[in-house]
Parts: sequence; C-alpha cells; structure tokens
Amino acid sequence: MSDTVFMADLSWKTYAERVKQGVVMFLPLGATEQHGPHLPMSTDALTSAGISAGVAREVGGLVAPTVNFGYKSQPRMGGGQDFVGTTSLDATTFATVLRDIIRDLARHGIRKLVVLNGHYENMMFSIEGIDLARRELRYDGIEDMKIMRLEYWDFTRPETLVELFPEGFPGYALEHAAVMETSMMLHLHPELVDMSQLPDEPAAEFPPYDIYPTRPEWVPCSGVLSPPKGASAEKGKLLFDDYVVGISAAVRQEFGL
Ligand code: ZN
Ligand code: MN
Repeated sequence: MSDTVFMADLSWKTYAERVKQGVVMFLPLGATEQHGPHLPMSTDALTSAGISAGVAREVGGLVAPTVNFGYKSQPRMGGGQDFVGTTSLDATTFATVLRDIIRDLARHGIRKLVVLNGHYENMMFSIEGIDLARRELRYDGIEDMKIMRLEYWDFTRPETLVELFPEGFPGYALEHAAVMETSMMLHLHPELVDMSQLPDEPAAEFPPYDIYPTRPEWVPCSGVLSPPKGASAEKGKLLFDDYVVGISAAVRQEFGL
C-alpha cells in the first residue's frame, strides 16, 4: 500500500481507520481560470492541493479532493470572466458545494478540518459554505467539528517577499499568474509551465473601483496582471517552504497535534 495523503486514493476501510484515529482533513479550494499563456488553468487548484499535501505530510493529515471550480474571476484579481477557459460557479453554488462536502466529512467522523483556499475570489463564499455547514450540523447535534480556514499566501514571510520583490511587492491581487504563482508552479509542476510563453507586458493598472459591464481593456491581453519575469523554481521552493512550515505550525497549535 502507498503512503498517499490523498483521501480519494484510499479504500473506504483504510479511510475509516484514519478517521477513527482523529485525522486532520484538508480541503483545497481552487478554480478553473486562465493563468496567462504560460501556466495551466488548474494553477489555483494545483497550488492549493500541493500545499495541502505538503502540510498533510508534516502533520499526518489527509487531503480531500480539490474543489476545482471557484467563484467568478474578477478583473482586478484574476482577469475576469471574459477569458475563454475561465469556468466559474455562482456564489450560492460554490457555498452550497462546500456545505455539502463539509457535512459529509462530518458524517464520516472528521472533526478537524482545514479549508485551504488558493483562489482569491473564493474567500467570502468559503466562509459562507462553512457557516451553512455548521448551521446544518448543529441541527444534527454535531457541535464538535473544528474548522480552520485560510488563504495560503497569508503565510508568506516578510523576508521572503523582500527576497522575491527587491523593488517592492505589487500586492497579492496583482500576483495573478505572475512571479509567485509561476514560481510555485515551477517548483510543484514544472512540466505544466511553458517559460517560452512568458508575456512581456507591463503590470495592469486598475482604478480603485469596479465597473459593470466589465472593461476587458483594463486587463492585459495575456491575462497576466503583473510581469512573471524572474520567476524560478528556487523562489517557488522558498514560498512552498514558508507555507508548509507556517501552516503546519498553525494547524498543530489549533488542533493540539
Ligand atoms: Zn491563481
Ligand atoms: Mn485565481
């Protein structure tokens, strides 16, 4: 038998044993969203799953199948819904999918859950999904499920940001398909990155508001919001290590592992 951390690769019998032992479960949240000409549309899903697996190996946890569709891409953080390929869920659908998954994990006996988000736009609707699940579980008399929720990039150490962006950090929203995500993918899935396709466009400049209908001309043609030039597997490993170390520490502390 393999020592996989992926829940769906286990038989239900093996899984049931792990649940009985009080295993901590990770639920990665991704998206199917354009990530420029050089990265796959699965980038948010693969990074959240990869970090979840890294942390699960550290703390003896399991990783549930990734939620591969996310809430609608927004122009100022993911390029928006105007790109071919970007495939998104309504807010209520997304929250309801989460509610259903969490309810069933609780039914299995999972009491320690980490919802690990890799797509900016999922943030508030993941909170809603957790809230709906907790309300339903209360009706069922399940009050002892503890849920941690996080955006992995909040675990980037300031020292790492200085090392990656000596000229100043453009901010996480503009990091769409840029240095951080490209570096992470070069570390986790180099075979899915095409460095010959790096776009050569300046960073997007957005006003501090949204407009509807959206203005596709606000978004660089490539879909990349700031230049990914300088991305490397080494930088990806720096980031990945920050996330695994930082999130593992938080999980250990919150779940008393
Ligand atoms: Zn992304
Ligand atoms: Mn995204």
